[in-house]
Amino acid sequence: MAHYLMRFDDINPRMDWQRFLRIKNILEKYKIKSILGVVPDCRDYNLMVSNNFPNYYDYLRKCKSYGDVIAQHGYTHLYDSNSKAIFANSRNSEFAGHEFNKQLKKISKGKSLLSKEFLWEPVFMAPAHSFDKNTLRALDKLHFKFILDGFSLFPYKEDNLTFIPQVSSFPLPKIIPCISQLCIHINTISDKELERLIIFIDKNHNRFISINELRLSKKYLKIIDKKLTFVSIKFFRYLRNFFKIFNKLLINILCIKQRTFYKILFKNKSIYDWHLNGTFYCRKYKMISLEIINSFKPDIYIDIGCGLGEILSKVKIDSLYKYGYDSDLRLKNLISILYKNKFIFFEREEELFDHTLLVKKRKDLILISMLGFAHDYSKSEIEKMILNYYKKIGSFILLIDAFYVKDKLYKYNHHEFFFNHIGLVKFLYKVDKLRSLYCIKIGK
Ligand SMILES: [Zn+2]
Repeated sequence: MAHYLMRFDDINPRMDWQRFLRIKNILEKYKIKSILGVVPDCRDYNLMVSNNFPNYYDYLRKCKSYGDVIAQHGYTHLYDSNSKAIFANSRNSEFAGHEFNKQLKKISKGKSLLSKEFLWEPVFMAPAHSFDKNTLRALDKLHFKFILDGFSLFPYKEDNLTFIPQVSSFPLPKIIPCISQLCIHINTISDKELERLIIFIDKNHNRFISINELRLSKKYLKIIDKKLTFVSIKFFRYLRNFFKIFNKLLINILCIKQRTFYKILFKNKSIYDWHLNGTFYCRKYKMISLEIINSFKPDIYIDIGCGLGEILSKVKIDSLYKYGYDSDLRLKNLISILYKNKFIFFEREEELFDHTLLVKKRKDLILISMLGFAHDYSKSEIEKMILNYYKKIGSFILLIDAFYVKDKLYKYNHHEFFFNHIGLVKFLYKVDKLRSLYCIKIGK
């Protein structure tokens, strides 16, 4: 029968602490000990999705004394190599391919930072599961004992290092005799997956163990175990890559179909080209924004600069509580052709906010998106806009983008302003070739 290990990757002061603490509380209710993969000096924007967690190191020391294991998760988590690694699927790596001394230096610096905070333990997990033989040499030299990766069903020892297998992020079926190391990326796990994980913990809490309770694979079984697991994983990865390519192809087909449809529908109509080219399925940021908006489950959703209202039409709330505004009033007639009764379009911003105030109940969550135009406005203009909305309707969640690409077309870059905003609750770095997305709580 399977036993489970709980492992969290990407622990850093700016991760999604709200979600992490939700699961951590459930784990502690059952006295389950976790493995916390701490990035010693996190420089990877992809992992910094919210504001700084107060008393970060104190909290980690508390976890350590509770019995959680602190694993060193690389050094900065920045991928600066694309060499092939021993186990990893992707070519992104902080270590694989670098010469021995460079790897030694990185790991050693990370170890020093964790040791200074009384957190270091001889356990290592590589970012993107990516490392090579030089990494193993460096780890051995720096007195690491455990490496949290490997293709097998049971832990095994090679030279001085014990490999604890990491076969699938999600739990393997109970009937398989194995050690299944769950690998949770708290920033990116979907809401559905999170709920499934919680149910799994509730049902199987007595099957969770800690690193200290692990037993090594018997020598004669080690080779068979490794070979069989390796073949199964390769097959699974092949299937997964196939579905990824298929999915990408499907989105491309939808994009072409939508573009063609819009061009036919709006033939001879006066409309900017970007509305016809940048349709919902042709713009990744629109699809991601929709997911974000739905994840907040707002009571009222307002899209400033709504264009044809593609996002508005798809947000999962009653059409009476979805409002759009765009300064291009020609869009009004086109919206009535495309999305009649799917949301309310206002010709004047004033009217929109007066209506919102009338409809809004005291505890309603309002989400306002301002996408694709903030780069035309200075910081003070943006601040003025936000303050104005706040004065009119009270607190809300703002979903806004900033362009990281430097171009004359994109006059202002607001990354620093949004990223360091006190109300930042969600940050998605480089969601497409142009922009990052920010969710900011305005007001209390
Ligand atoms: Zn990571």
